[in-house]
Amino acid sequence: METKLRELRGRLAEVYDLNMANALLSWDQSTYMPPGGAAARARQMATIGKISHQKATDEEVGALLDDLRPYEASLPADSDDAALIRVSRRNYEHMVRVPTDLIGELYAHSAASYDAWVKARPANDFAAVRPYLERNLELSRRLANCFPGYQHIADPLIDLSDYGMRAESVRAVFAELRAELVPLVKTICAQTPADDACLRRGFSEPQQLAFGERVIRAFGYDFSRGRQDKTHHPFMTKFSLGDVRITTRFREDDLSDALFSTLHESGHAMYEQGIDLSYEGTPLANGTSAGVHESQSRLWENQVGRSRRLWEHFYPQLQAEFPSQLGDVPLDSFYRAINKVHRSLIRTDADEVTYNLHVMLRFDLELALLEGSLEVRDLPEAWNARYREDLGLTPPSDSDGVLQDVHWFSGSIGGAFQGYTLGNILSAQFFAAARAAHPQIDAEIGRGEFATLHGWLRENIYRHGSKFTTDDLVHRATGGPLDISPYMAYLREKYGDLYTL
Ligand code: ZN
Repeated sequence: METKLRELRGRLAEVYDLNMANALLSWDQSTYMPPGGAAARARQMATIGKISHQKATDEEVGALLDDLRPYEASLPADSDDAALIRVSRRNYEHMVRVPTDLIGELYAHSAASYDAWVKARPANDFAAVRPYLERNLELSRRLANCFPGYQHIADPLIDLSDYGMRAESVRAVFAELRAELVPLVKTICAQTPADDACLRRGFSEPQQLAFGERVIRAFGYDFSRGRQDKTHHPFMTKFSLGDVRITTRFREDDLSDALFSTLHESGHAMYEQGIDLSYEGTPLANGTSAGVHESQSRLWENQVGRSRRLWEHFYPQLQAEFPSQLGDVPLDSFYRAINKVHRSLIRTDADEVTYNLHVMLRFDLELALLEGSLEVRDLPEAWNARYREDLGLTPPSDSDGVLQDVHWFSGSIGGAFQGYTLGNILSAQFFAAARAAHPQIDAEIGRGEFATLHGWLRENIYRHGSKFTTDDLVHRATGGPLDISPYMAYLREKYGDLYTL
């Protein structure tokens, strides 16, 4: 059995290496690659993606997984070997259903489509990306149809990023949350919005970069196993557990953009950096789902990063860095500015209270596209209509409307957005569990100390990688299933102090 397991690990490591090589090509595409590299890069990524898929679906892998069944059955379910075999089998059974040619088409198309989006967004040119989106919808449907027997065509795509969830279960959680959020948004937005002019006073890029990195270094992001670069749409990526990178973008007229996206991406990255090093080269060396991943980014960005306690420690340092911009701004005004609630157009800039409305409308539009009840050509108008309905705003351009997110232009349509709101819900649930276990966490945050919180997260979430499903992990870490109440309690308490609720 040991020989078989070793052989399985060897084959999985080859697949892992190819996928990490592709991740490096993709990182380069989004950071430093000159425009002339686009066409060849799309082809190269498709080639590697196909080879990886062929290796991952090799019959020998299937045979090894079959041979290892008795060994797996002899182990406790929570042993690493059992988890490795279980997760590898789940991936294998999934991947053998998808033809290698389709994988190649998906990779090639998404690289070409990303390139078109990068040009179309600043040019406000939806017509230029429409054919890419139509082709992507067709490919996404073909991908979903590799898994017949679904209830909703989005189910297989949702399952790919949030294993165990389906359109119906996501809709149920969203409906419950929406019923609580809509009146809260209404109450808050009827009041005078906070003044956030202090965040728009002109902040130099190198100083912003240095300050953001100072905060995430204190959080525990390990720069000896990571780095930060500039991009169009911030993201985290990794090439091994020893090389987990983040990206950001800067706006000199908006301090919060780069700062909070850096805190956000550091949360994703600390999750990956915290995975048990013995999982390297295996399918266990990944965060377990989009929702849990997002819970970690949102926890550091919002639960910690937009808390008053954090800024009691860091605000004097920020003022010292930017004396002419913030010297005359008291902590309380800064705290209100970074937690300003208002109806806005851009998801990534949205405050915590309205954010989920942005996600829910994208989720509904994805489902409508996949179902065929919405045509790509009607998408900009459908988008604008939902913004009017849910947020009372009409986007002045497609650049700030349907073209704002990279997701539909660089991956499948379906499964891309639900993780953001699941992540918000889970961020509050995990943070509440950590504080219940270690009540000193609040005071430590006020002193700029994060070791207890980081330690709890590493112990209960990070180190496990993909060993447990989301459902199992949430039960183990919090003692119950996914639950919106800690999140709503958090919003009510925090915004109850800032507004009259
Ligand atoms: Zn994120």
